[in-house]
Amino acid sequence: MTTDYNPFENAKTQFDNAAELIRLDSAMREFLRVPMMELHFTIPVKMDDGTTKTFQAFRIRHNDARGPGKGGIRFHPHETADTVRALSMWMTWKCACVDIPLGGAKGGIVCDPRTMSQGEQERMCRGYIRAIHKQLGPNEDVPAPDVMSNSQHMLWMMDEYETITGAKHPGLITGKPVGMGGSLGRTEATGYGCVYILKDLLKQMNLPIETTSASIQGFGNVAQYSAKMYSELGGKVVSVSCWNQPDNTAYTFKKKDGCDIDKLMSISDAFGSIDKQKALDLGYEVLDADAWLSQEVDILIPAALENQITPAVFPNVSSKVKIICEAANGPTTPDCDALIQQRGIIVLPDFLCNAGGVTCSYFEQVQSNMNYFWDKEEVLAKLEYAMVKAFRAVYELAEQKKLYMRDAAYVIAIERVANAVKLRGWV
Ligand code: NAD
Repeated sequence: MTTDYNPFENAKTQFDNAAELIRLDSAMREFLRVPMMELHFTIPVKMDDGTTKTFQAFRIRHNDARGPGKGGIRFHPHETADTVRALSMWMTWKCACVDIPLGGAKGGIVCDPRTMSQGEQERMCRGYIRAIHKQLGPNEDVPAPDVMSNSQHMLWMMDEYETITGAKHPGLITGKPVGMGGSLGRTEATGYGCVYILKDLLKQMNLPIETTSASIQGFGNVAQYSAKMYSELGGKVVSVSCWNQPDNTAYTFKKKDGCDIDKLMSISDAFGSIDKQKALDLGYEVLDADAWLSQEVDILIPAALENQITPAVFPNVSSKVKIICEAANGPTTPDCDALIQQRGIIVLPDFLCNAGGVTCSYFEQVQSNMNYFWDKEEVLAKLEYAMVKAFRAVYELAEQKKLYMRDAAYVIAIERVANAVKLRGWV
């Protein structure tokens, strides 16, 4: 897969297309096209071998007109400022699209936690908070986990913040462990959220879910719970792919009669890498990294990273594919959208499709601030309601105005944010 695409350029191209559609005035375009605030900083970390290593880190707030900034902190060796800029911008549209009172922000640390001890990871997390705690807070900017960061990292960060401020602030951060301010259902929320709206779309298309099949890229948090819910509803997951640490290679794991998701989860590590030998022992075919994309399935679910569906690989997508369910952020490049439209494939656009995570994070923040926690059924029922409501608004606008689903989602989100900016008198 190519890495030639710059996610921030992609995010701006998508925004420009939608801004043109709604004839957004030029001053508002200029303001919404770039983040409001960027923090670029370093975190010196004492490593276990006695050396000190300096990690590059970011926190970028794209827009907070509708509420405090909200967005995860990604740990990745190839993290860049432009990736974080793009992700922060998509967070703004995501929160607006699902209509929660939060803005868009994102963070990142250039690191590979798979090669770091627990102690090194803890010191890095605490260093992140020490560097930028003044710019964070339940009413300013609320971080969460993302790729390769998890609930333990969030808890260390919250603890550092509370140590510095001398008070309890469980609403500072979301994705915390259950029992320590975390919300039941948060682990499942992003993946389940994707499938809640996929289920509703299939209903609109008169396509029974039990007759459909899917291929998934990734087998981390989002992919696992999308796969789990989709299979439980009767869909058949033919293949999943993931990146494997020992040989630094990605593979696709295929079982044409359907993958056993619980079994695959039981042979995966905390970073979503499936044990290749154990998969072979269970009778899975192990194919190359890109094979997930060329399977003869009804639904493709990219749930790993950005820039995976490009014009270069799109010809490999089977003519059977009817839906691309964008569980990852930015998995499709803008120059591929026209090709997808020509084929009549329906796209559930990323910032709508994966909004279940931030919606549940919002529920977690509400519960944390109240110090009163709901049971899992209540969380998931509220989540499904919010996701389906957001999906139907986008779907109906797309039908009414004959818009591509991504453009319809952008129109709704940008209008909401621009309206908040105008009401505040900023532009
Ligand atoms: P994760 O770290 O839990 O999992 C990532 C998965 O992608 C792993 O299985 C990894 O092996 C796989 N992967 C990485 N590079 C790959 C490659 N080249 N080929 C195949 N597989 C590869 O991350 P996650 O939390 O599941 O996030 C996945 C995507 O969903 C990201 O785009 C993230 O921004 C987005 N997202 C996550 C959440 C959330 O709540 N976790 C919410 C919204 C959006």
